[in-house]
Amino acid sequence: MSVSKEETQNSGLERFPVAATELAEIGRGFYARGWVLGTSGNLSAVVSHEPLTLAITSSGVDKGGLAVEDILLIDGEGIVLEGRGRPSAETRLHLAVVKLRGAGSVLHTHSVWSNILSDEFLGEGGLKIEGHEMLKGLDGVETHEHCEWLPIIENSQDMTRLASTVEQVLTQHPKAHGFLLRRHGLYTWGRNVAEAKRHIEILEFLLEVTGRTRFTRKH
Ligand SMILES: [Zn+2]
Repeated sequence: MSVSKEETQNSGLERFPVAATELAEIGRGFYARGWVLGTSGNLSAVVSHEPLTLAITSSGVDKGGLAVEDILLIDGEGIVLEGRGRPSAETRLHLAVVKLRGAGSVLHTHSVWSNILSDEFLGEGGLKIEGHEMLKGLDGVETHEHCEWLPIIENSQDMTRLASTVEQVLTQHPKAHGFLLRRHGLYTWGRNVAEAKRHIEILEFLLEVTGRTRFTRKH
């Protein structure tokens, strides 16, 4: 009896409802901003590090009405421990980011500007963003003179291969706060859900500014 209670505490089961509530609220907010339309995007939060367990959105759910029941608890291999449904197809990418960056939360949007710019700048391997006050919203950035490099990775449906590419790119760019998947979306993370949410807001803002500026200057 005491062993099973201990196991429950170790896997963070008692913290799962809190994480699920936070993710559901964030999903509804992102949907309202147009960043996760048509059941797209996925959100996760680490519930315990040792052993690793993660609260993550169930596959194919409408983020506009995202509820606590739409969030699953999975282990470090993506096996469902709690909740009904399948974990997101992109679970491997979340696990890769958590393991490599020690992140407490990973958030992923399918926004219009991330789709446009990841295609425009694919040939350059990434997108450089500099000189904006909003950069200071990224962890560790103290000045608008900061130069943020957002790597761009070709999209794939082969999640094992994609996760391995993500691992390589994150290793090559240890200071990156996020990355783009071509014609797909944005990934970012943070020490906790609040920081990851702030990073999405900052990066989506900067992507939109970059895109609008480029479009205006072209015409
Ligand atoms: Zn996606």
